[in-house]
Amino acid sequence: MADSPSGAQKVRQVEAIANGTVIDHIPSPMTLKVATLLAGPDDQVFMGMNLRSSLLGRKGVVKISGRELTERSVSSLALIAPTASISIIRDYTVVSKNPVPVPSRFEDIARCANPNCVTNHERWATRFDVVGRTPLRVRCIYCERSFDAADLTLI
Ligand SMILES: [Zn+2]
Repeated sequence: MADSPSGAQKVRQVEAIANGTVIDHIPSPMTLKVATLLAGPDDQVFMGMNLRSSLLGRKGVVKISGRELTERSVSSLALIAPTASISIIRDYTVVSKNPVPVPSRFEDIARCANPNCVTNHERWATRFDVVGRTPLRVRCIYCERSFDAADLTLI
């Protein structure tokens, strides 16, 4: 199924889409989470897991037909898959490809994993500052605890 990048022909690992968004270089274990996060109830979604990647070893790819991502979806994606890239496809052609932008602060994207944090007891918007990039680590500005971003639950 998968072909090596050095091979003369590159086998397509996930079906092509005519128009829409491709999220590539997702850490493989996060692929289902990304698909669930980004797929609306009417979206056509194509997914590949455990695909070979020279960068990550194994990666996931999610393709969403017919639309581009909202700003909020991009923020959520940055939290759970900071290595991902986002490509916009029009008429089977990649018109742009960029790494997911990782902000220095995430606002109201995920719950704090500290059960005693004030944000879990009152209706406060959560805020996390980025304190490490590889792997992505964030610190709650309210309780000051740090977490691996991949372990947080998206709102
Ligand atoms: Zn907290």
